[in-house]
Amino acid sequence: MGNQWIFLDEGFVKKEDAVVSVYDHGFLYGDGVFEGIRVYNGNVFRLEEHLNRLVESAQSIMLDIPYTKEDLEQIIVDTVRKNQLENAYIRVVVSRGVGNLGLDPTNCSKPRLIVIAESLALFPKEMYERGIKVASVPSRRNRPDVLSPQVKSLNYLNNILVKLEANQAGVDEALMLNDQGYVTEGSADNIFIIKNNVIYTPPVYLGALQGITRNAIIDIANHLDYEIKEAPFTRHDVYVADEVFLTGTAVEVIAVVQVDGRKIKDGTPGNITNHLLSEFRKVVTSDGVQCYHDTKSSAIV
Ligand code: PMP
Repeated sequence: MGNQWIFLDEGFVKKEDAVVSVYDHGFLYGDGVFEGIRVYNGNVFRLEEHLNRLVESAQSIMLDIPYTKEDLEQIIVDTVRKNQLENAYIRVVVSRGVGNLGLDPTNCSKPRLIVIAESLALFPKEMYERGIKVASVPSRRNRPDVLSPQVKSLNYLNNILVKLEANQAGVDEALMLNDQGYVTEGSADNIFIIKNNVIYTPPVYLGALQGITRNAIIDIANHLDYEIKEAPFTRHDVYVADEVFLTGTAVEVIAVVQVDGRKIKDGTPGNITNHLLSEFRKVVTSDGVQCYHDTKSSAIV
């Protein structure tokens, strides 16, 4: 691709000119919020849900986004169009803006909006065919009453630490436990296990982000008449599960075939996981209106 255009504050700038101040509190303190969104065949997947999450994250940290949801929707769609993308990953960032070296956000001039849309480096097909390995790691998920995992903030250190620990353990992804030892989520994805044909995912109040792919999988599983429950579970439940998979905007649905050195069943992706992945791909690549009931996609082409 030739020139890439980034939306920065009030307009589009070329990628090489898209720079922010070293005094931006997003940079200095991780003070801001963000979203990662997918575009499939020219449709932005569940844009309304992503914008609701962005606005709620901002509300929680008392950050006034200087755009309405409709403005944000238009800017996101325009960014995808301007870059002539049909399939893309979008990153929306709202930082507190330029301040001084002091912590106090009231010294920041104005929140800053950045929208980046780029073509996606897809995960290799073999990863979906083989499945991935995960390990529970020493760092625990932020307690929801300390820094809520529902706030998709620019402070992702908790997630970065567990990712580093997964790298150290020589596996593909981390399994984050909460302070009670219950399984919460991966570094950037939600977890599901399947036992005796029932699908389980941890309730978000245990310390998981309410993932939009998670929501989509719950809808799809209900639509397909699978039994699906939000319930707490431990590492042991994961070790003895029939199937384990992760969901996220980037990874979509991916089977986990090994956890802390324990092989999950025969160590290959399970049938229900494969079924949900193929149904998910059908949903996301169909025209927006054909998605399941509460799927909101915005047509952009
Ligand atoms: N948990 C965390 C911590 C994440 O960063 C993400 C990625 N946004 C997810 C779960 C999955 O959420 P989604 O399906 O909305 O991408």
